[in-house]
Amino acid sequence: MTYAISAQGLAKNFGPVKAVKRVDLAVRPGEIYGFLGRNGAGKTTTIRMLLGLIRPNAGTVRLLGSSLREDRAGVLAKVGCLVESAAAYPNLTVRENLEIQRRLTRSPAAAVAEVMGLLKLEDFADRRAGRLSLGNKQRLSLARALLHRPKLLILDEPANGLDPAGIVEVRGLLRRLADEEGVTVFMSSHLLDEVEQLADRVGIVHEGVLVEEVDRAELRRGSRVAIEVAAEDAAAAGDALAAAGIQTLGLAPVAEDLESHFLRKTGGQS
Ligand code: ATP
Repeated sequence: MTYAISAQGLAKNFGPVKAVKRVDLAVRPGEIYGFLGRNGAGKTTTIRMLLGLIRPNAGTVRLLGSSLREDRAGVLAKVGCLVESAAAYPNLTVRENLEIQRRLTRSPAAAVAEVMGLLKLEDFADRRAGRLSLGNKQRLSLARALLHRPKLLILDEPANGLDPAGIVEVRGLLRRLADEEGVTVFMSSHLLDEVEQLADRVGIVHEGVLVEEVDRAELRRGSRVAIEVAAEDAAAAGDALAAAGIQTLGLAPVAEDLESHFLRKTGGQS
C-alpha cells in the first residue's frame, strides 16, 4: 500500500531541546488520523517536518508516495496544510487572500466561491483578513488549505479558535471529505474529545515520542483494559514483578476510558 504519510525515525532538536525524539507514522489513504498530545509534546514540530518547513535531524518523510526533497512542487500541489506560520495577508480581504491561493495552485475560477461556501465565509468575503474574529481567521486558513481540493490535508490544531458550533461544522466537513472524496486527513490536537469524535486512528505523542496508536474499533469500544497491580512495593513492581520476587496482593483487570488512558500514557492524573 502507498501510505498517504510515511515517516520514519523523525527527530528534531532545537539546541538542547529535543522537541521530537522518535516519530514513525504510516497514515493510510482516506483515513482521519488524530495526532494527540499535550502542549509541548512535539506536534507542531512534527507537522513542520512533514511539510518540509524545517529539516529533521534524523528520519525520512514521504507524502502520497513521493519525497518532498525529490519533487517538492509536485507533492505540495496535492497537499493542503494549516500551520501557524502560514498566516493570511491581513490587509487583503478574504476573497483576495483566496484568489491569491487560487492562482498559486492554478485552481479553476470557481474554486474561490466554492470554498467560501464550504467554510461559510460568504458574509465575510470583503472583510480584511486582519479584521476577522479568531474563528473566522481559522475558517479562512482552512479555506486556503482546501481550495485546491488536495488529496491529503495536514492540519495543526484545526479546531483552534472555533466556537462549539464551528467545531461540529468543521468536523462534519472533514468527515465528508474523507468519506466521499477519499481525502486523507492528518490533524493534531491537544483535545482528546475532538480527536475521539472524528479520528479513525489516534496516535498519542508524549515528550517527542509516539507512544501509542489506537484504532477506531478501540475508540468506539470506549474503554480498554489495564491491569491494576496491588503490591507491597508499587514502584519496584513496575520494573520486574515476578523476577524481583515481589509478593502481589492482587491482580485485577480495570476498564479504562480513553481519557484516563491518555492521561496515564502522558503522565497526567487520572
Ligand atoms: P502545543 O500544543 O503547545 O502547540 P506541540 O505539541 O505542538 O505543543 P511543539 O510546538 O512541537 O509542541 O514543541 C515541542 C517542544 O519543542 C517544546 O518544548 C517547545 O518549547 C520546543 N520548541 C518548538 N519550537 C522551537 C524552536 N523553534 N526553538 C526552540 N524550541 C522549540
